[in-house]
Formats: sequence, C-alpha cells, structure tokens
Amino acid sequence: MDVEQAIEYIKKYDVKFIRFQFVDILGYPKNVAYPVKAGEKGIKELIDIFEHGLWFDGSSITGFVGIEESDMLLKPDLSTLSVLPWRPEQKSVARVICDVYKSDTKPFEGDPRSRLKAILNELKEEMNGEFFVGPEPEFFLLKRDPHNPHKWVPADSGNYFDVEPLDEAPDIRRDIVLALENLGFHVEASHHEVAPGQHEVDFKFDNALKTADSVVTFKMTIKNIAKKHGLKATFMPKPFFGINGSGMHCHQSVWLNGEPSFYDPEGPYNGLSEMCLSYIAGLLHHAKALVAITNPTVNSYKRLVPGYEAPVNIAWANQNRSAIIRVPAARGKATRVEFRAPDPACNPYLAFACMLAAGLDGVKKKMTAPEPIEKNIYKMSEEEKKQLGIESVPGSLSAALDELENDEVLQKALGKHIYENYMEIKRAECDAFRVAVTDWELNQYLDY
Ligand code: GLU
Ligand code: MG
Ligand code: MG
Repeated sequence: MDVEQAIEYIKKYDVKFIRFQFVDILGYPKNVAYPVKAGEKGIKELIDIFEHGLWFDGSSITGFVGIEESDMLLKPDLSTLSVLPWRPEQKSVARVICDVYKSDTKPFEGDPRSRLKAILNELKEEMNGEFFVGPEPEFFLLKRDPHNPHKWVPADSGNYFDVEPLDEAPDIRRDIVLALENLGFHVEASHHEVAPGQHEVDFKFDNALKTADSVVTFKMTIKNIAKKHGLKATFMPKPFFGINGSGMHCHQSVWLNGEPSFYDPEGPYNGLSEMCLSYIAGLLHHAKALVAITNPTVNSYKRLVPGYEAPVNIAWANQNRSAIIRVPAARGKATRVEFRAPDPACNPYLAFACMLAAGLDGVKKKMTAPEPIEKNIYKMSEEEKKQLGIESVPGSLSAALDELENDEVLQKALGKHIYENYMEIKRAECDAFRVAVTDWELNQYLDY
C-alpha cells in the first residue's frame, strides 16, 4: 500500500483512529492512537505523518532508552494498515505496524522489528536468500473459577480435536478465525488441543517479518475476542501443572535465488539437502542458548519437561515429537524444519532472528547433523542418551541465559543494545522468581 492507497483505505473504512504500533523488547505490543482529522487539512496532516512518521517518547518502553534520549520516531509500514475487527465499525480503529527510528534516517538499534529486518537484509545481500516461518501457536481459554473468583481455570474439559459439547469454544474459534481473516490472515485450520481449555489456530507460513507481525496481531486478536466472550486467553507456556503446556512450534525454511534450498531429490532421508542438514546442525549447536530467546520466561522451562509433547532433548528426528527438531514428511517446496522448542511468550522478531542466525551458522561453518533419533527419547535411560550424545535443553531460564552469555553468534544477531537490555531484564526476572515463596513450597515445607 502506498500513501495514496492508505488514504483511500482510511476513507473507505471510515477510520477515525490510527494506532501506530510496535513492540517492546519482550515482544509486548505498544501503540499510540492518532485521531484522523476531518477535511483537506486533516488529510494533509495524515499524509505528512505517513511519509515522515510520528514522534513519541520512548523512555518508558521496556528495554528502549533512558529519559535523556527519549524522542523517537514511529515510521509506519503501510502494508500492515488494517482495521481492527473487534473495535466499532463506525468511526473505526485501524492499526499500522511501525519501525522505530532515532531520527529520520537512523533506525533504533533496540527495536526488535528493525533488528529482524536487518538480519533478513543480510541474508538477502549475502546469499540472495529469504527466510520463511510457519508458527503453530497454542493457547488456553480460561474462565473464572466459580468457587474462587481470583483464580482462572480452563474454560472447558475438551481434548484433542473434540467436538461440542465437550469443546465449548466452537463459537469463539469461529469468531477468532473470522476476525483473523478480516485482518488478512490465511487461516489453515483450528481445533481443540490436547489439554482442557487449550486450542490451536494455524495460519499459512510467510516471510519471517510478515510472520512475526502476524504473531503479534494473532495474540492481540485472540485475547480481544476471548474477552468479548467473557473469557481470558493466555499464551503463558505452562499455565497448569500436570497437563500439556502451550508451544509455538516454528516450521522454517531458507530459499536461495527464489528456490527452496532444503530439498535435494538425491539427498539422504528421502531428499534433504546438505544445506538443510547443516541448518539443522546449526540449530542443534546453538539450541541451549537459543531457548533463552525462544523460551523467554521462568515458566517456559516448566513446559520443557518429559511427557507432555514438548521437546526436552537436543536431537532431530523425522517423526519423533520428543526431539527438539522434527522434519515433517513433505518434500519439494514444502521441505522444512520444525523447531519445537519455542513457546508463544517469545518475542517473535527476536526468536526468528536468532533461529535464522543459529541455522545459518551451521550452513556457513558446514556443520554436519548427527543421525536422526526416531526412538522415544522420553523413555531412554540417561546412559543410552549419553551414548548417543543427546543432551537436554537447559532446565531453567537462568541456565539458558548462562548459555546465551557464551554464544557470540546469537549475541551478534540480537545486537549490543538488545542483548544487554534483554540480559538485564531477564536476570532480574530470574532473581524475582528465586526469592518468591510459592504454594508448592508452603505445601512441601510448612510442617518442617
Ligand atoms: N502442546 C505441545 C507443546 O507444548 C505440542 C502439541 C503438538 O504437537 O501440537 O509443544
Ligand atoms: Mg499443537
Ligand atoms: Mg507442530
């Protein structure tokens, strides 16, 4: 969409408010709403903002800047201009996703979207490559516990692929899918997931920047539609002990010169290219540090435990879901690697930038992938895993951050500003958790 088309769009959909949206370092959406003014003068003002951006004060945004250098510019990416379907139809509200700049020409190094763009540009320039990601975000719909209004519990007791009345959310998923389609999503499928109250809505893969934008929009949409139905949607990785958590598996592939590079009809494992195997090797090599970004909360590591379809082991496989990487059976253009560690609490811009950096490091250094492990690794003894060289993902955010501290490839992908601020914020989060006294401890130790 160019400026002229954007103005047409604003008029056609009676847009009164335009939200200039970006994310903070944690991937949390932030916005400032600009009211469209009537008449020629109003349109002129809007054209100027579309062309040059909107100034804002970035000092209170998590991981951005201090108060001494707080003036920042939001430069809209007009291709993302879209009416928000959960807001009023008359005098409607649209949002446009922005890049954050320090001045007219200087992108802000702490802006996650600009960081991903820079990494994707490098891929384009160095290898004429493109990076595609297809995420599978899972989430829970929760209702208030009738016995304790301060507590949220799963909204139904449905199971994998259940139908109503066990699945109590077909109307909510219907509204979610319709809203996503209005926002331009190509929704592929939606279904009840394994755990009570848990759901999945899948949308078509696209280039990594568009997909990262989509993940942010997706979460906002689901939370708002759930709220309209009196429920809470959560993307927390492991809201309840004893049942599955929510992952965001990321299917990914790199294309070079407009061609898929992960497929080679002559290659091993039914046609995987050398590049694909090196990319897998790179992801495995950096996995321990990578999860510090793709699994960013203290709670994330409660999902990465055996027995709940979430990966624990740093290995790859063709079918096995206990491995951190799976290569789905499709070949040809659809050849892709599924990285199963990420959860939907991650900042998708940073997660995608780091996944790509990890995989490409394997390609550049011509790393070789180990043999795939098709046996259920959850059931292997420690001895057996040791013999096969299978390591586990870090057991805590703190351990993952230690790994990131030693991973220069991922630090470079994040850039100095984001890396340093991320570390500071996440170390503080680990400390806050360390000193908190949990219900588990009270149950366990009160009688000591
Ligand atoms: N919920 C599982 C996870 O935490 C994934 C289930 C599935 O394979 O869809 O990753
Ligand atoms: Mg799933
Ligand atoms: Mg999957």
